[in-house]
Amino acid sequence: MTKPNYQKAEFLLSVAKSNQLPLDQGMEIAIVGRSNAGKSSVLNQLTQNKSLARVSKTPGRTQHINLFQLDTQRRIADLPGYGYAKVPPEMKHHWQALMDEYLRNRDCLRGLVLVMDIRHPLKEFDKQFLTWCNQCNLPVHILLNKSDKLSNNAIKQTERLVNEHVATYGIPITVQVFSALKGIGTKEFQIQLDKWFTNED
Ligand code: GDP
Repeated sequence: MTKPNYQKAEFLLSVAKSNQLPLDQGMEIAIVGRSNAGKSSVLNQLTQNKSLARVSKTPGRTQHINLFQLDTQRRIADLPGYGYAKVPPEMKHHWQALMDEYLRNRDCLRGLVLVMDIRHPLKEFDKQFLTWCNQCNLPVHILLNKSDKLSNNAIKQTERLVNEHVATYGIPITVQVFSALKGIGTKEFQIQLDKWFTNED
C-alpha cells in the first residue's frame, strides 16, 4: 500500500459515543495528549491544515472523538484530552468510558500517538494512558513536543528519563523529540505513521 498524503486529511465526523464511530474497517491511528500539550499544533504541522484542529477545539466537541479521513481506507482519530485538576468528575468518567471502549474494541486501530510537553513529561494522564495501551496491546509513539523551549542538554536528559520509564511496559513504545512550532521532528513522525499505515495484516 502507498504512503498516505497527510495534507489530504479532511474532517469526517465527531462522535461522543463509541457506537457512533464509522465502520471498524481500514486503518486508524489515534492522537492523544493532556490539554495544552500541543496536540492541535501537532495535527496542524502534520497536515499543514489549520482548519482541522480547529474542528477539535469547537465548543461542544472537545470531549468527542474527531475523525479525519486521509483516503478511503485510512483515518486519524483525534482523542479528547484533559489535564487540569479542576476538570469535573463526570467529565473524567465520560472520558474514561469512551477511551476504554475505543482502545479495547477498535480493531482497525494501528497505533497511538501520545503528545507530551517535553517540560512536563509523564504526568498522571500520560501514565494512565500508557497503562491502558499496555493492557490492550497497542503500540505507542510518544512526541516530546515544545522541544524549542529546552536546551539540548535538558532535551537529552528528558529523552533518557522517558525512555527508561517506557521500557517498563510490554508494548512497543517509541519516543521522539518534536516541536510543532519549529517543525522539528516532522519527518521522523511521518515515517512512524507511514509504517503503521502501510503495514497490511
Ligand atoms: P492542545 O490543547 O494540546 O491541542 O494544544 P495546542 O496545540 O492548542 O497548544 C497549546 C499551546 O502551546 C499554544 O499556545 C501553542 O501555540 C503552544 N505550542 C504548541 N506546540 C508548541 C511547540 O512546539 N513549541 C512551543 N513553544 N509552543 C507550542
